Amino acid sequence: MLPSLINVSRRKSLLKKLEELTREHTAAHIDFALVMVSISNFRQINLSNGFIAGDLILEEYCKRLQSLIRPQDSIMRVGSSDFVIFIKNIVNEGHATLAAVKLLGGLKEPFTVGNKRLKVGTNIGIALFPDHGQDELALLRSAETALLESRRNLPPYSVSSSKYDTDDATTWDITSDLQKTIDLDQLEMFFQPQVYLETGRVFGAEALIRWKHPEHGYIRPDYFIPIAEQSDLIYDITNWSINAVLWLMKEWPEMSQPLKVAINLSPKMFEYQGLVETITEAANLFGVNASQLTLEITESALMRDISTSIQCLQDLKDEGVKISIDDFGTGYSSMSYFKNIPAHELKIDYSFVTNLFENAMDRHIVDSVTKMAQGFGLVVVAEGVEDQKTYDELKAIGCDVAQGYFIGKPMPQGKFVEWLQLHNNYSKILEG
Ligand code: C2E
Ligand code: CA
Ligand code: CA
Repeated sequence: MLPSLINVSRRKSLLKKLEELTREHTAAHIDFALVMVSISNFRQINLSNGFIAGDLILEEYCKRLQSLIRPQDSIMRVGSSDFVIFIKNIVNEGHATLAAVKLLGGLKEPFTVGNKRLKVGTNIGIALFPDHGQDELALLRSAETALLESRRNLPPYSVSSSKYDTDDATTWDITSDLQKTIDLDQLEMFFQPQVYLETGRVFGAEALIRWKHPEHGYIRPDYFIPIAEQSDLIYDITNWSINAVLWLMKEWPEMSQPLKVAINLSPKMFEYQGLVETITEAANLFGVNASQLTLEITESALMRDISTSIQCLQDLKDEGVKISIDDFGTGYSSMSYFKNIPAHELKIDYSFVTNLFENAMDRHIVDSVTKMAQGFGLVVVAEGVEDQKTYDELKAIGCDVAQGYFIGKPMPQGKFVEWLQLHNNYSKILEG
């Protein structure tokens, strides 16, 4: 949850005003924009010029803001140097952007205090109703997030994007729907095959969770997993995933060597003391050898609390469970991974694999990471292999394993079992 930028009593009146506006506008189906305006250097202005100068500037700033808006729009002061503007009858995002540019342009000119001309910095965050929040709380959250985001932009404004729309209302709905889906055992586990590049034989599969919502259709895991991580639901999901995978893999046809199955592990799971026992007990219960299980962990997950994660990974390794570093190359990839982390496998992120032919640097990265990781005894898996050309190139580089649409898309259990049977027969024919 974001810390609010707004002071408590003013937040109450702001929410009240927003509640009225959202109610009024829902009925009339007219959009409006919630524009948060914040002075970025107010503290410095006060410290360097004194509080009297600060107050004078605030007064001038308010007047100027007022002169920049239309008569039908309104302003509210919500913090020591924060304001909210309600812009009515906004047609689209472009309209809101225009408003932001106009405000920034008007506030750019220095302010005169006594004989000094002082520059005041402004940041703007915009959320549109109803696109970025269907109620007052959700809308305010989106505007506050956009305001924080604007600090990274030039010019310093940001319009809330759907990316940030994990607003309270949405989160609440999804969370309760997800809880129901888990209780009713309606999540699904898909499997995406992985093959040895050298021989084409099956290496194993990555388990990828699927949620088919009765109204909204398939919901992407990279959308609902982060929401589940905000509550304890992630524990239920992980527990479900482990049991589902172990249960389903018992039905797979026998192959020439036991297949590996990789489960994605949310970073939050490292905070759970019973993780190692949960996994090993489930493997025992289903009669699966722990060495067939791989846990995929992203770099950022490891970085959260490196010493706890390393201890946890070491305990898992001691139990025979394998560890894979997922999305390698997207975070603060560091050589120390190879030295300090008890991993068995490294997955090169698909962004490098996709650009193998377009970008010489990416090819160089794939080549050198492969060699370095193999030097440390890690199995290297390339993800996102979408065509024969890429497959052949990765084979030439010396990568160990490939995963991607070219080999097979993530499939439900029935399709995956068929795929395994076909692939097994095909490998036998090839080997004569
Ligand atoms: P990821 O671990 O990087 O998973 C690989 C994603 O790439 C999958 O998306 C997969 O469908 C997609 N993919 C595979 N081959 C190709 C290809 O050739 N081209 C392209 N463009 N994409 C390919 P998916 O299934 O939507 O999963 C997205 C992310 O959600 C995963 O990224 C993982 O971080 C997370 N996730 C999925 N299942 C689980 C789960 O059971 N638990 C947890 N904690 N996270 C999960
Ligand atoms: Ca993964
Ligand atoms: Ca990945």
